[in-house]
Amino acid sequence: MLPWQMEVKGRPENLVIVGSGPAGYTAAIYAARANLEPLLITGFQRGGISGGQLMTTTHVENFPGFPDGVLGPELMDLMRAQAERWGTKLEEADADLIDLKSRPFEIEANGRSIKANSLIIATGARANRLDLPNENKFWSRGISACAICDGATPQFRKEELAVVGGGDSACEEAIYLTKYGSHVHLLVRSNSLRASAAMADRVVANPLITIHWDTEVVDVQGEEWLSVLNLRGLKSNQLKSISVRGLFYAIGHTPNTELFVDQLMLDARGYLVTEPGRPETSVEGVFAAGDVADSEWRQGVTAASSGCKAALAAERWLSSKNLANLIERKSVEPPQAKRPALTQVTTESNYQPEAIWQKGSFALRKLYHESDRPLLVVYSSPSCGPCHVLKPQLKRVLEELQGKVQGVEIDIEEEQEIAKQAGVSGTPTVQLFKEKDLKNEWRGVKQRSEFKEAINILLGE
Ligand SMILES: Cc1cc2nc3c(=O)[nH]c(=O)nc-3n(C[C@H](O)[C@H](O)[C@H](O)COP(=O)(O)OP(=O)(O)OC[C@H]3O[C@@H](n4cnc5c(N)ncnc54)[C@H](O)[C@@H]3O)c2cc1C
Repeated sequence: MLPWQMEVKGRPENLVIVGSGPAGYTAAIYAARANLEPLLITGFQRGGISGGQLMTTTHVENFPGFPDGVLGPELMDLMRAQAERWGTKLEEADADLIDLKSRPFEIEANGRSIKANSLIIATGARANRLDLPNENKFWSRGISACAICDGATPQFRKEELAVVGGGDSACEEAIYLTKYGSHVHLLVRSNSLRASAAMADRVVANPLITIHWDTEVVDVQGEEWLSVLNLRGLKSNQLKSISVRGLFYAIGHTPNTELFVDQLMLDARGYLVTEPGRPETSVEGVFAAGDVADSEWRQGVTAASSGCKAALAAERWLSSKNLANLIERKSVEPPQAKRPALTQVTTESNYQPEAIWQKGSFALRKLYHESDRPLLVVYSSPSCGPCHVLKPQLKRVLEELQGKVQGVEIDIEEEQEIAKQAGVSGTPTVQLFKEKDLKNEWRGVKQRSEFKEAINILLGE
């Protein structure tokens, strides 16, 4: 911990930022550079994972500064490193309760109570999903919640695509996708479009779009990539299949504002209401940034820009109220940002029987057959954002257990056979073994405490 990061007992935080998408991290970078030493509650499960929605996508091609594109999780790692470099404190948790009626404001996260003189809400929004049986398997492998972001992906070029939804977004996305796909199927649950008349007319008149009325998606199929949609006629009850390479959801977003109901002004769809074009919410000292207050633009760069505005507004407000406790830096230039270290694949020459964390099937086989300690195996893939979030959490658990348990990560793209043998159908999957017996299996991101508890039971502690 750097000297300026030592907590001063009892003193409220200058600024707490809730959410670690582009809006939250940008706000943190500005506030930290203004010597406010913000505390950022990253989020974990409640409203999406730490790093936000871009952790769930592969290539981001439209964020300025990356001429060749950048992987979503990599972009978010860079933002995080920049925020940390300037002294942002991170709390890897969800905010569970936020009380805006008291001053300073009170926030509960990770079982601890945090007081804050000002607050930036950057909790984002989550794209609504259909929850199809095979949805997770094909998420980012044919299914996307953002046609504007993903439409130009090579896999969709000159292929048949589908959009589900009947409102303005669905129509706009269907028209947009005709630029890339050979044909677009618009799947509408009712017998009319909810879009504006002009938009609906354009869709109906477009020879590259076929509208399937009274139709719902039942499931999706494919090998490595989506190839078939199973549909059901809602009036006829008849099942049919169509071949497509892309399915785009345009069935709305849900803003993560549950914590603010009855505390802040929300619009009819639950988005935070701010002063027009500004970050101030209906409670003084509380600011909003990103998708949580923006049902229209919803892009990484618009979220980042509003995070900047919110931090500048919070800084001005804290100064005007004489509430800013600025830190003093020992040196003007902080040390270089920390980049996450890559784990090398373990081979015969660098294998360490005592190492807490190794990578690849060589280490897995050796430890599985030769170690008498519990073994935690995480199956991940380079483009899997949740894996990115989970791995450091697991490493922390194992470090805290001081080598009583060992961990191995398997990249399922590199080691498909191993993943197949282990019955892994999605990432991240975590398996816990003891003496070659599979004791527990988890899919998706879980709290550290959940892994710790299962391991402690195995250790008899
Ligand atoms: C699949 C997909 C692909 C996309 N591709 C692109 C693209 O290529 N280019 C582009 O510009 N945009 C893209 N977008 C849109 C972009 O991701 C969003 O506009 C942007 O991430 C919004 O940023 P945000 O900071 O407002 O919120 P989010 O990114 O949604 O982040 C919200 C944060 O709040 C946290 N949170 C929520 N609730 C709580 C709580 N109770 N306590 C603590 N934290 C909480 C979450 O954990 C998360 O960290 C894509 C979106 C999706 C879904």
